[in-house]
Amino acid sequence: MFSKLIQNDFPLTEFTHNEGDLYKIITTYGKTFELKYGYYEECDRQSPLCEPIVIYPDFTKEPVYTDEGIPFVTMMQDACKSYRGDTKRTPDTTCAECNYFRRGEEWFGICTCPRNKKL
Ligand code: SF4
Repeated sequence: MFSKLIQNDFPLTEFTHNEGDLYKIITTYGKTFELKYGYYEECDRQSPLCEPIVIYPDFTKEPVYTDEGIPFVTMMQDACKSYRGDTKRTPDTTCAECNYFRRGEEWFGICTCPRNKKL
């Protein structure tokens, strides 16, 4: 019944992308990443209203390093304990606001903090 209500109030539209579709292949700081459409949450996958979105790697769970041992981060990654930014200027504390962040392609970057470098 709930799904009927949803369909009547929000007629389903054709999604532009399917889960697993390739979005882009990116090479940045010497590593290549394949970005695909998908869901971050199982509840999104179950919802008829949620379209697959581009899934970025979670480098906190599965770290990836440059050949020099510098860790990759994403701009939206939650700040770590070494965060160095101006919390008065911006309330966000993600890698994108950190002085150690160096932007790469798309939402990718690297963390130049010496404490986070792989030894
Ligand atoms: S860029 Fe590096 S030091 Fe800054 S918050 Fe992200 S992981 Fe931490």
